[in-house]
Amino acid sequence: MDLGSISYVKDGAQRYVTGDITPFDQRNEMFKRPFWDPQMAFLQEQFYFARVAPRDKPGYTLTDQALVNAAWRLENEYGLGVRGGRMGLYAWDWNGRFSYPHVPEGLKINIEDVGLTTRRVKKAARLFGAAMVGVCKLDRRWIYSKSYNITPEGGKEEEINIPEDFKYAVAIAVEMDYEGINCSPALPASAATGTGYSRMVFTAGLLAQFIRGLGFDAIPCGNDTACSIPIAIDAGLGEIARNGLLITPGYGPRVRLAKVFTNLPLLPDRPIEFGVKDFCMICEKCAQKCPSQSIMSGPPSAEPHNISNRTGVNTWHINAETCLQYWARNGCDCSNCIRTCPFNKPPGLLHDGVRWGIKNTPLLNKLFLKGDIFFGYGLKGNPDKFWED
Ligand code: SF4
Ligand code: SF4
Repeated sequence: MDLGSISYVKDGAQRYVTGDITPFDQRNEMFKRPFWDPQMAFLQEQFYFARVAPRDKPGYTLTDQALVNAAWRLENEYGLGVRGGRMGLYAWDWNGRFSYPHVPEGLKINIEDVGLTTRRVKKAARLFGAAMVGVCKLDRRWIYSKSYNITPEGGKEEEINIPEDFKYAVAIAVEMDYEGINCSPALPASAATGTGYSRMVFTAGLLAQFIRGLGFDAIPCGNDTACSIPIAIDAGLGEIARNGLLITPGYGPRVRLAKVFTNLPLLPDRPIEFGVKDFCMICEKCAQKCPSQSIMSGPPSAEPHNISNRTGVNTWHINAETCLQYWARNGCDCSNCIRTCPFNKPPGLLHDGVRWGIKNTPLLNKLFLKGDIFFGYGLKGNPDKFWED
């Protein structure tokens, strides 16, 4: 991370808080509402259970559908973080033994040097696939009041009891494929998203097992159990943006987020700031290119659109109701708000220079935005070309 392009700030997600934060009930999350909210029940048929025939159109063929299906496999069979987690690699407990190598039971590492332990946990996270990893003290306001799990029998509420001695969260960002996301809203973008979800399962699940092997407890999560974005902000991974997503310094919004809660003492990172809010104020590319007009224009607001937004937070709330209805019409998910974002660029001298400029010379932001548009960044890629390399 280039230190000239970021600065450290005192508050993490707290800097967006304007009122009381009551823990969010996960049944109000948009993906859950079709299973209990009569007004959204039609999305069960139209989104969850619809059979989507392949089309004779680039990006929507059976080959593209097969890629999406394969990309999601690890999440769908070994994590299910989107539906509820607590299984497979997202299981909360351990079978109580090392399967390989075999070591005596009950061992614990020496934790006197918290900095060293933290560096090793981060190293393990990167080995297992994290593009970014940060640590924060666990702010329990971000844990859901209850989880709402999609089971074969329908929606099911479940209590969440994270033990009191779990005082830390390790926030993990995994990268999504640039070329795939550029094809949004066609299926290669959905495959990049699915691969991101499968990477989350792999990375968080293995990291939790590493921590357990050190003699401590760990709970790995995908989208389940707690809101990932405020935890990632607290852990210094990025800032919230107009598209409702976390923007990271190196990958922009082109990441997926997972987290591991633990009672292993760790050294928290400091939250960061790198000019996202100022840039979003002059840039509305994501709002203009959102096919369902679900992204706000103008300044952030504490006013929610509906029950799927949190209250007490001054931010750019997304209208998740209209967003998910578009996904149903599209026959798959959409990443236009990632594809079009000027922060979504691969690393490189020029792009790193612009990132530095956004942080240090915000008066030039309109110029940077004009350059982004002039050079055609964020335009939809050709889904056939995705297959050519
Ligand atoms: S995912 Fe697509 S439809 Fe939903 S907010 Fe983003 S751009 Fe709009
Ligand atoms: S597209 Fe522009 S307004 Fe939207 S999140 Fe990215 S920088 Fe902010």
